Amino acid sequence: MTMAMPRVLFFNQAGLYGGAERSLYDLVVHYPGHCRVALMQAGPLYDDLIAAGVDTHVLGGGFQRPKRRRWIALTIRLYSLIVVAIGLVRLSRGYDLIYANSMKAAVIAVLTKPFHRRKMVWHLRSLLVPEHFSPLARLVARWCGNWGADLVIANSDATARAYQSNGGKCLPLIAYNGFTLEKFRPEMRADLRAQLVAEHGLDPMRPIIGMIGRIGPWKGQALALLGLSMGTDWQLLVVGEALFESENFRQDFHESATRYTQAGDVFCIGHRDDIAEIMGGVDVVIHASTLPEPFGRVIVEAMLAGTPVIASNGGGVPEIVQNGVSGRLIAPNSATALATAIEAALRETEQSLRMAVAARRYAEQHFALELTLPPVWLALRSVAAQPDGTDRSASSRCRRA
Ligand code: UDP
Repeated sequence: MTMAMPRVLFFNQAGLYGGAERSLYDLVVHYPGHCRVALMQAGPLYDDLIAAGVDTHVLGGGFQRPKRRRWIALTIRLYSLIVVAIGLVRLSRGYDLIYANSMKAAVIAVLTKPFHRRKMVWHLRSLLVPEHFSPLARLVARWCGNWGADLVIANSDATARAYQSNGGKCLPLIAYNGFTLEKFRPEMRADLRAQLVAEHGLDPMRPIIGMIGRIGPWKGQALALLGLSMGTDWQLLVVGEALFESENFRQDFHESATRYTQAGDVFCIGHRDDIAEIMGGVDVVIHASTLPEPFGRVIVEAMLAGTPVIASNGGGVPEIVQNGVSGRLIAPNSATALATAIEAALRETEQSLRMAVAARRYAEQHFALELTLPPVWLALRSVAAQPDGTDRSASSRCRRA
């Protein structure tokens, strides 16, 4: 891209990798202009950005929950917030705009706007619906979007619609997450399966069902365990960790998985970075979120890997998978529906593989990084080029429907 690009300060809360951080990494390392990254916490994202040669800073503080008395915990959090805010204002000097990745970063970028006085773009990657956010959080989000953000970008049409239903005055720009196609090798599926079997001691004769993604209360791992007890004879490979959850939740999940792991039906292999290989090595990938998913990167990854996919029908998921054409969509939060769909995917092999081929083609045509990134660059450039302070009403900052 030859056009002059604005100098962008990318700002994110977590230093660990959730889907939002994977997408941010791709945006940053491909940004065709000068940029810098500010994170509230250190972690693998920080390490990878530094390794990629990106000017990256940890502002400190973050939103850890100190286990102290309430007022001490509150003071520590307030102090952290101030440290982060000062750091953000300092790092934004000389930059044209701040790109806030997800909710907490957006709130801080808006609150500090009188000090940094930069344009602000909010990339919204959450569904602003009561199932995911409290009324107060949704009120803050509405205020952020309407009075602070110069542009809102949504990671799916569902995210954009939820934003508007929550009182957002403009129609966000919809920018799907993009993927590096070359990482996925559907033609190698048999080899990848053999590799996976050998590495984890799986039974090569039994179907392998892969469930990939961070472990969380609504991510559906508990539902998958329930589905397993209803199914006939498959083994479940659970990939991912409970990144942002409490210690209690982790313990509960691992305790409930133990019964199955001891029987050799479930393999919990923790967080992995070789997701393309794992996706390609399993026989079916399931996505079983019990609440609507804003986008669902893991679904696209399964499609690109050429593996039959079953996904929970809600949020942005039907924008990715067409039921019966590129995968099987199931009613959310139903272990029976999940088990039935898995049985069907294993029984109707030819149909499953035909859908997997269609899915790969669809994902290549819609979710390649080369396709998804340029509209974001253009949007950032046009926001940076807008004259300052002429009309601050939300409607003047909207992409028209
Ligand atoms: N992921 C990963 N290693 C793991 C589990 C998940 O790299 O062990 C990646 C996964 O491949 C996907 C992202 O984390 O790219 C999860 O994104 P998704 O949109 O599915 O869910 P989110 O975490 O944003 O809720």
